[in-house]
Amino acid sequence: MINKYKKIVIKIGSSSIVNPKTKKINSKWMSRLCKDIDKYQKDKSIIIVCSGAIALGSNIIKKNKNLRKLEDKQAAASIGQIELAHQWKKHLKKNKINIAQVLITLEDSEVRRRYLNARKTINTLLQNKVIPVINENDTVATEEIRYGDNDRLAARVAQMIDADLLILLSDVDGLYDKNPNKNKDAKKIKEIFKVNKFIEKMANDQKSILGSGGMVTKIAAAKICMNNGCDTIITNGEKIHPLSSISKLNSSIFFA
Ligand code: GLU
Repeated sequence: MINKYKKIVIKIGSSSIVNPKTKKINSKWMSRLCKDIDKYQKDKSIIIVCSGAIALGSNIIKKNKNLRKLEDKQAAASIGQIELAHQWKKHLKKNKINIAQVLITLEDSEVRRRYLNARKTINTLLQNKVIPVINENDTVATEEIRYGDNDRLAARVAQMIDADLLILLSDVDGLYDKNPNKNKDAKKIKEIFKVNKFIEKMANDQKSILGSGGMVTKIAAAKICMNNGCDTIITNGEKIHPLSSISKLNSSIFFA
């Protein structure tokens, strides 16, 4: 399914990589994902956009309670980001893959000079077969000038580096025509060729299923990609091998 693509951005949500109860890395899952990445890394450029910094740091800040204030989230992110980078390094080292940490803000993707600098850095890493592991620079991003969700950040990264595929690993298989938690007859939309107001409404109805961004920001990400010639796959990250098990049946695919 993903063989035809050459430059792939994989976005991993907090709920896949961090165990929601223990607030620790989901190591077994990560190892399997890294095996998949190893398989594709040989003849493709892989870019990882990974959330989880706030979740990992929340054990220390406010003793695991729900973090509401921005400064608590920023402090948790600065603790968790070190752990996140460490885990990626540890897991991908087993596959002899080097990684680099790239933290970017909304401004970095909008102010031309910073956008060009970020693009050059990421492309240089890729030319050297180093996988960039990207997250929002949460510690400096304030309420007004932050993405807040990594779905749209990942789409802007895909646009920045001319990726041809964005994979959003989520905790659902894709976009449904109704909320599948409330409607037994909800059907998954397998292929989408245009994000219009009907698709956006479906995403809105599915809001309650997911964490921070939900389906709304995933559709917004797919729309950004579609406008830039990049396909998007929304698929369930909880599969044993999240990348190699991607098929049209268990995902929603947005074609650019
Ligand atoms: N940047 C946030 C973190 O690492 C995640 C944002 C999101 O939920 O996508 O915790």
